[in-house]
Amino acid sequence: MGLRRILSDKNPALHKVCKPVENFDNKLFRLLDDMRETLLDSGGVGLAAPQVGILRRVVLVDTGEEILELINPTLLETDGEQEGPEGCLSVEGKYGLVKRPYYAKVRAQDRNGNWFEAEGEELTARCFCHELDHLDGIIYTQVMERLLTEEELMAFQE
Ligand SMILES: [Zn+2]
Repeated sequence: MGLRRILSDKNPALHKVCKPVENFDNKLFRLLDDMRETLLDSGGVGLAAPQVGILRRVVLVDTGEEILELINPTLLETDGEQEGPEGCLSVEGKYGLVKRPYYAKVRAQDRNGNWFEAEGEELTARCFCHELDHLDGIIYTQVMERLLTEEELMAFQE
């Protein structure tokens, strides 16, 4: 177990399309354990493998109840819309205004390769979309409407 360094969006790893996970082995377990520790340490709600320099389709999402490990995830269904502030551990100190679906359902494999579905609303739906985008090399700053000022961000938090 160990903390991994979170790369900034200036790193080319953040702009590549990640490959599917094929081997559900000790190397994957170690990556997942390290990513969990790194996510908890960061105070964020989600982390994608390319953010720690691993170009594989692996993300972690903290739903508030548990940390979901999503391997080879795909978006199955979305509904509604939300517009709000979004940040990224790889884009330090900035928040953008991003439109996302209000609800999202994903299908993914767990660390043993078993397929399952997970769904969420609000922040969890936002996080599913944000993290899955990372696997295709997309950062929220490429899909946002604009960056938010400090005052606008504070108004959202009230
Ligand atoms: Zn991010």
